[in-house]
Amino acid sequence: MARLIGPVCRYCRREGIKLFLKGVRCETAKCPMEKEYRNKPPGMHAWRRGKASEYGVRLREKQKVKRYYGLFERQFRRFFAMAEKGTENTGANLLRLLERRLDSVVFRAGMANSRKSARQMISHGHLRLNGKPCNRSGYLVKIGDRITVRGSERSQAYVRAQIGEDTDRAVPGWLTADLKKIEATVIALPTRDDVQIPVEEQLIVEFCSR
Ligand code: SF4
Repeated sequence: MARLIGPVCRYCRREGIKLFLKGVRCETAKCPMEKEYRNKPPGMHAWRRGKASEYGVRLREKQKVKRYYGLFERQFRRFFAMAEKGTENTGANLLRLLERRLDSVVFRAGMANSRKSARQMISHGHLRLNGKPCNRSGYLVKIGDRITVRGSERSQAYVRAQIGEDTDRAVPGWLTADLKKIEATVIALPTRDDVQIPVEEQLIVEFCSR
């Protein structure tokens, strides 16, 4: 499975917003975006860069979403192609599809600190989908899908360590989660309003449709 490695905080600095890629650290004062001298684009001459071109603005919007969901370009393009086939607005379709990815659902249900941790949890086989093993973090959940943890002590301990003490986390309205039992159920499909990151999806559509 492909994964993003390297210093991910630079992605937040580049996009100018917190993308919450590092779990607990993102909520602390250690986050570079909380420090005035560091919440600038990476690179030595960031201050010299002029106004972004129209292309640049659209590129940044696409990169922001791609990095937020931890995807590579090819994966992102595959989701875009799927979104284009839908009958509704392509941009909103794209975001809704990305939100339905299993790794994103595990994160939103509060079972993992970040999408990256959720992906690792899935690929290492700690979770069960409708009682069966599933190691595809890109699986698109459907209404009624139930996510639980494998019965082994190791898996239980691993997921409980991710959840920590806070078992009453708020989850989006399209999910129900019981973190004491470590289970979550999809009760509806996410809408555009369920996407947390501020994004102008129309710019992404314009970029990808060139
Ligand atoms: Fe790094 Fe998280 Fe802060 Fe982003 S939000 S800069 S990933 S600590």
